[in-house]
Amino acid sequence: MAIRRMEINLKDFSHIRIGPQSWVWSVNNSLEVLNDPAFVLDKLVLGNCSKLLLPNRLEEAFLNVDQEPVIEHSEGLLHVSSGTKLSDLLQYAMEEGLGGFDFMAGIPGTVGGLVWMNGGSFGKHVWSQIYQIRAITSSGEVIWLRPEDVEAEYRNSHLHRLGVKFVVDAFLYYKHEDKQDVREQILRNIEYRKRRHPVEYPSLGSTFKNSKGYKAWELLTEVGMAGYRIGDAMFSTKHANFIINLGNATREDVLRLIELGQARVYKHFGIWLEPEIVIL
Ligand SMILES: Cc1cc2nc3c(=O)[nH]c(=O)nc-3n(C[C@H](O)[C@H](O)[C@H](O)COP(=O)(O)OP(=O)(O)OC[C@H]3O[C@@H](n4cnc5c(N)ncnc54)[C@H](O)[C@@H]3O)c2cc1C
Repeated sequence: MAIRRMEINLKDFSHIRIGPQSWVWSVNNSLEVLNDPAFVLDKLVLGNCSKLLLPNRLEEAFLNVDQEPVIEHSEGLLHVSSGTKLSDLLQYAMEEGLGGFDFMAGIPGTVGGLVWMNGGSFGKHVWSQIYQIRAITSSGEVIWLRPEDVEAEYRNSHLHRLGVKFVVDAFLYYKHEDKQDVREQILRNIEYRKRRHPVEYPSLGSTFKNSKGYKAWELLTEVGMAGYRIGDAMFSTKHANFIINLGNATREDVLRLIELGQARVYKHFGIWLEPEIVIL
């Protein structure tokens, strides 16, 4: 296994441009971890840091973003290493004419992050498309999991309840479709996001979870949080559930905004907004 340790400014790497200078571990692709499952046990697993509000100091992190992703398909199943960026998966789907992945278009994460978070969009979640995943538990055991083993719900797969430490790879269903149709659907979804979301600014996507009864952005807008700014962090006026970094926002700016948003919404509606972003 080609393990590397490198110093990286996580501020430049994180999607909200907040993070410390840190030494992180990496490998060429996540399947290599199977050679030494114990390697991940004492490390914090980072994907593409598109949902993570990082701490001001970080040690022993494993940055699982594949330089050489494994993406292959046969007989209705796409096999993909967990450090594969979703944009690479989508590129492959477009080239091969594999349908069913367009709901991932514009989500800036890795497969592992999406699986862990049960991420999705346009009413679809990744666990509804999974045949099985392979994972390493916190005792170093390699296990296989299928949807029926997992209590996945909106934006959480609860894999930690099954003792999972690291998602190694995933097998996802696909349908053969016309290549042009696959491409058009993916590009349509990216265009939709550009219109609705503040993609021109660094962010971590939706700050709070929606619920059946409400949309977080509507509640935040109602209580005047759209455009509210602390330091360089601001609830976007384009989509109030996105906290954007206007330049030099700090972790503390973001945390204070989150608390204020929660307090105002609670005071007005009696609803406690649950963070969707992962605060480390
Ligand atoms: C502009 C923007 C738009 C977004 N839109 C959406 C959207 O529409 N839908 C949506 O669901 N999300 C969205 N997101 C959030 C984010 O992109 C997803 O949650 C993504 O799946 C996170 O992947 P990641 O690799 O960046 O994970 P990270 O942010 O690095 O990590 C998230 C969590 O997953 C864990 N993790 C990551 N990889 C692994 C692994 N291999 N094994 C075990 N644990 C792991 C981490 O420890 C952490 O707890 C958006 C974000 C942005 C910035």
